[in-house]
Amino acid sequence: MLPAHYVCTSCSTKFLFEFREADYYLGTGEIGGEVTDKDLLAVPLRPAWCRDCGCVCPVEDIAPLRTFEAAYGAVRRGLAFDYPFSSEHGDSSEHLEAVEAYLRWRTGRRHAARALCCGGSNFLLMDVATPLFKHAECDFGVVEPATAFLGSYNWSPGISGPSNTRLYTTEGELIGLRTWLHTDRSSWSVEKLSYPRHTSE
Ligand SMILES: [Zn+2]
Ligand SMILES: [Zn+2]
Repeated sequence: MLPAHYVCTSCSTKFLFEFREADYYLGTGEIGGEVTDKDLLAVPLRPAWCRDCGCVCPVEDIAPLRTFEAAYGAVRRGLAFDYPFSSEHGDSSEHLEAVEAYLRWRTGRRHAARALCCGGSNFLLMDVATPLFKHAECDFGVVEPATAFLGSYNWSPGISGPSNTRLYTTEGELIGLRTWLHTDRSSWSVEKLSYPRHTSE
């Protein structure tokens, strides 16, 4: 889960996420044109500070394989789980299908978790008790999570406006942006997109 934003306790500078959601593209075809819902899998995310970009950003949350196997066991026994997604909403057949997709993705995944701003790994996780960190040119404050209501009132992604959700390969490479929903065929328009530059690997 990502907090609404982060704020410095001294100077009150706000640090906002440029985006809060991301999908893996599971399809085999070249990206472009449209993608269907069944080829998308939500990226599990953790909040981080990217040292290369100097921003708060979502980082892939890649738990050990056994955590996915535990979720698979739980869904088959009708038990609750909260990773790779929360079992609170939806029905068990949807959950089973999704957990199987996550398990296949995790089994094949090779690259370490990436910061989804630039694809790098020079980041500091922000959802741990320590370290709180100080930002540049501010001696007294530490950067803390803040809660706020996130306006999503009457907003239907892809219909009211473009969803603008980033799409990544199963190895965390940025490949596209999904924009408009075509409800008649459960698919999304996609534009090509890639990381602005390649950073330290
Ligand atoms: Zn400050
Ligand atoms: Zn970055």
